Amino acid sequence: QDSDTADEAVRGTCDDASVCKRFAVSVGYWKDPYIQYFARQAKERKAPEINRGYYARVQGVNHLLNAFLKKTECKCQIISLGAGLDTTFWRLKDESILPQKYFEVDFPSIVARKLYNIKSKPPLSKPIMEAHSGESLLLDSHSLDSTHYSIIGADLRNLKDMEEKLKKFGMDPQLPTLLVAECVLVYMTPEQSGSLLKWAAGTFPTAMFINYEQVNMADRFGQIMVENLQRRQCNLAGVEACQSLQSQMERLRSNGWEAADAWDMIKVYDNLPRADVVRIEKLEFLDEKELLEQLLLHYCISWATRDSLNLGAAASSY
Ligand code: SAM
Repeated sequence: QDSDTADEAVRGTCDDASVCKRFAVSVGYWKDPYIQYFARQAKERKAPEINRGYYARVQGVNHLLNAFLKKTECKCQIISLGAGLDTTFWRLKDESILPQKYFEVDFPSIVARKLYNIKSKPPLSKPIMEAHSGESLLLDSHSLDSTHYSIIGADLRNLKDMEEKLKKFGMDPQLPTLLVAECVLVYMTPEQSGSLLKWAAGTFPTAMFINYEQVNMADRFGQIMVENLQRRQCNLAGVEACQSLQSQMERLRSNGWEAADAWDMIKVYDNLPRADVVRIEKLEFLDEKELLEQLLLHYCISWATRDSLNLGAAASSY
């Protein structure tokens, strides 16, 4: 398998994520009026376990992200690494909690697709224009730069090029910075994800990194997950770092991050607001409790800070 094929398969994963999110939204797990403009409707129903898993993923990441915005009073920037067709920018705009700037980075071909949707669908372009002030905004087929939202086509394995592009669009290393990687690092070798983490730690003195990905991959269930992804030719170069919560934290710490923590999704699920969990558990009948637990056990959120603003407090208040 050549590396282009592997990269192409990795790029395809953004559709999976968004189609699953759109399906869960259509059942009522959470609200996202924008996902329909990026993702097609699922061809068939997704299993209730999958929907609950996505619910925990989205709510868990949102929870940390919102805490960061609160702590910094939105005087910060967010960089979504491997953003795919994610809709967080539009949610933050609707909730009036936009950071000074929201950056998205993904492969140029994914960015081109996202931009095509943004340009052709007013519900997506309007919020960007509303948040934009001043000169006309900068737009070509592989990038867009506006006052509060920028999207950049770059390879996360080519840090120099990515940094240059981010700087060109006004990335400010001195601003408190939140970096988010949701299901992204697993597709990079440990050296590549290590370099990315180290670059981020070395670039932003006040920062937080949130990572969502697989964990506990060495056991039988984990092996089946790996085989399923490999069957789709996905290059899982990073699965090594996904052995345990310990190895997730260790990777953050050894690349310059402090106060690292990692929770499997069972723990995240158990800590979501009770009333909301009660609500979503009524949405669909689930008879395979064990399968849900296995799924949740094999994903985690890990996070760490670089602290001069006492951001740790925001993180540990999970
Ligand atoms: N973060 C989004 C979400 O959770 O909905 C998308 C997740 S998708 C599973 C992984 C994304 O990471 C894809 O959009 C893929 O193109 C991107 N990606 C993976 N490796 C990358 C790299 N080396 N450079 C840029 N983007 C990358």
